[in-house]
This record gives sequence, structure tokens and C-alpha cells, in this order.
Amino acid sequence: MLLDILLPPCCLHCGVLLRARAVPELCTRCAVALAPLPDALRCVGDVTARFAYDGPLAEAVTRCKYGGDAALAGPLGRALAEDPRWADAPDGAPWDLVTCVPMHPWRRLRRGFDHAALLLRHAQRARPSGRPCPRLLVRTRNDPPQASLPAVRRHTNLVGALGVRGGIAATQGARILVVDDVTTTGATLEEASRALRAAGAAVVHGLALLRSLAT
Ligand SMILES: [Zn+2]
Repeated sequence: MLLDILLPPCCLHCGVLLRARAVPELCTRCAVALAPLPDALRCVGDVTARFAYDGPLAEAVTRCKYGGDAALAGPLGRALAEDPRWADAPDGAPWDLVTCVPMHPWRRLRRGFDHAALLLRHAQRARPSGRPCPRLLVRTRNDPPQASLPAVRRHTNLVGALGVRGGIAATQGARILVVDDVTTTGATLEEASRALRAAGAAVVHGLALLRSLAT
């Protein structure tokens, strides 16, 4: 492929050139450290995750999110798009809208980019699914980041913290997938689901690239 000649695939962890495009984009040495998710933890409630929060993908998410390496959103988004849930709901029907968990505007301003929106964009490029609406959800408060809170406070921290842009007309009867990079207690994706259902969505499901097993 021309793309592979112009932009040869590299291991997202160590940077070595890959002989063939793999998903996730890891060389054979780094792929050994990939952390699969036990079947029982793949789908918890209405939130599906693809890998455990460990190994090279966890490091890549940290580098992307806190180290400012936005280019990593490309391979991470492509890995997300490989998940069957990216294309279809659990009942097999396709999504109408695909959105992401939003950052508060102040936090986005400090970081310079919204990592979940970038994941969504790259996943859409790799495998179009539904209508992309990265700004459908909005943070109504600048709460402490979920990662900084103990599990018991994560649900209460978020209650009422997300709103829906466009009102009921945008979401009425829609089947909506909400993506995020990491889920731990599922609190953020559950709050997104609550807000979207309150705005008339028919089906809402969360999809995270990684599930943190520590709470
Ligand atoms: Zn490697």
C-alpha cells in the first residue's frame, strides 16, 4: 500500500519499523507485554473494554494524555476501531451516533488537545461507524479528574456533570456509542449514558480501549 511506503508502520511502544501493519501497532517483542482482558471483565454493565490497563498500551495512553504525545492517538484509535462493539451494538444493529467523553474546556486548553476526541477521529478514519459527534456531550463543571479520586467518590463526583448539546432533537431515539480511553469504575461512561438517555437516546453503550483493574 502507498500509505505503508510513505508512512511505514512503527511499533507504538519502541518505535521499531513493523514489517506488516499490525493492530495494535506493536512489534513482536512489545506485543508479548500486551495485557489481554479476562472475558468476565470485557463487558461490565453497559461498558465494553478491549484490553487491560497495563503494558505498552497503558504507557502509550499515559504518554498521549499527560506527556503531550498526541500522535499516539492514531494507533490507539485504530486499536479501538478493531473492537466489534465499535461497529455494532450488543444486539447487532449499527450505531446512529458515535461520541466521546468530553474534557472540560479549561482542561483542554491546558493540555492543548482532547485525547478522547482524537481517539474517536482516528477510529473513524480507520473504520467509519455511525455519525461522529465528538462534541455531543459537554462538561458542565470542572470537577477533579476521575483518576485523582478514590473509587467511592467517582460516582458522586460526576452526578450532573455532563450535559447534551443540541437537546432532544439530536438524540431522540438514537443508538449512541460513547468512547473513552480508560474506564475504571465505569462512572464517567455511566454518567454519559444517564445524560444521553435523559435526552431521549434509545440505546447507549460505552467503549473504552483499556479497563483499569485497580479501583
Ligand atoms: Zn516494540
